Amino acid sequence: MCADYTNPETIVLHTGHHGDATTGAVAVPIYQTTSYQFNNTEHAENLFALKELGNIYTRIMNPTQDILEQRVTAMDGGVASLAVASGQAASMYSVMNLCRAGDNFVSSTDLYGGTWNLFANTLKDFGVECRFVDPSDPEAFAKATDDKTRCYYAETLPNPKLHVFPIQEVADVGRKLGVPLIMDNTATPILCRPFDHGAAAIVYSTTKYIGGHGTSIGGILVDGGNFDWEAGGDKFPTLNEPDPSYHGAVWTEAVKPLGPIAYILRARVILLRDVGAATTPSNAFNAIQGLETLPLRMREHCANTQKVVEYLQGHDKITNIIHPSVQDGETRRRADAYLNGGYGALVGFELKGGKDAGRKFIDSLEMLFHVANIGDARSLAIHPASTTHSQLSQEEQAQTGVTDGYIRLSIGIEHIDDIIADIDQALAAT
Ligand code: PLP
Repeated sequence: MCADYTNPETIVLHTGHHGDATTGAVAVPIYQTTSYQFNNTEHAENLFALKELGNIYTRIMNPTQDILEQRVTAMDGGVASLAVASGQAASMYSVMNLCRAGDNFVSSTDLYGGTWNLFANTLKDFGVECRFVDPSDPEAFAKATDDKTRCYYAETLPNPKLHVFPIQEVADVGRKLGVPLIMDNTATPILCRPFDHGAAAIVYSTTKYIGGHGTSIGGILVDGGNFDWEAGGDKFPTLNEPDPSYHGAVWTEAVKPLGPIAYILRARVILLRDVGAATTPSNAFNAIQGLETLPLRMREHCANTQKVVEYLQGHDKITNIIHPSVQDGETRRRADAYLNGGYGALVGFELKGGKDAGRKFIDSLEMLFHVANIGDARSLAIHPASTTHSQLSQEEQAQTGVTDGYIRLSIGIEHIDDIIADIDQALAAT
């Protein structure tokens, strides 16, 4: 039995596993199995009826996955989690766990492009409407809400603008209207704990900082256990109405002996069961390997990024630096309120030379990788105007915060001198 640790550095190494019961293995084993032997028919029956929680089939749960879930839950102060195949699957499940055709939800406009497409196009085809609003104005969420609004959605530190989202303000708006806030905290694990600021659920792409080494796609959905679904009544039919696919179970009722886990239990036993975006035992293991050093790496990512910002500030080829540490006013206040101990490891800058200079900068990099990813231990760079945002019109690019000369860096944990040397020589080439 593991102690209830509260410090993230200890949680990520110890929660949920202190040596394998059978072999004594210290590292979390990869349970590479699809299924699990039932003790007898009564045991099997109890598991299927959720009278007892336990392993049935790896599409729905797996012991390696379980350790990852326990650790991320403890790290964020939630009640339970569900690891899935990708960040995209986690975002999809987070919303579809509450919405049915004809329902809507309200999302910040400042989103990762994949999430934008999912919300604006794919969910629309499923009959679920996403209402996009300006994240800088918490009241915009209230204005877009009606009796079919099932949740709010936003990212803590969305790029490329890197304006921290007003988590508590929008969570408060939602709680007054009976609407839960779901936060995508992919860019700021450890730095921000959205449950401390009123969020009801958290989404991560573990592909990024949690995995940390650019090896495995994964996602996780965390339940804060702090939202009263039952009080919402018919606002949350997926949780409060009998579920025909589970012998008429009402999830808020069924979980009463287990704790406030209606949201995450339904995501597992309905969405993951039926849609099947299951993670693999080895990808869950890789996410655990990353998670075990996450607090240490986040400190290093942030410290290196701060030094890159200082270096960029003195550079005559740069017109603008985008990073929470150089923001002011309300934007800066939010960064200080919600990011604890660092301003993140994403930094943008605009080159005076525009698009040509942007391309030249990227082509001149020797160590930084040119990829469309973030959150790797290695430093990464991209020129959005010629890649991730190239399908958008100039006006649309400007709305998302991308200009011709904009470069996004995801600063890694190499030695700072080597990171700056590479940026310096690539800038000299522009
Ligand atoms: N959320 C954010 C903020 C992301 O940056 C990404 C991917 O870039 C995702 C979600 C989707 O994650 P995945 O690529 O693991 O599906």
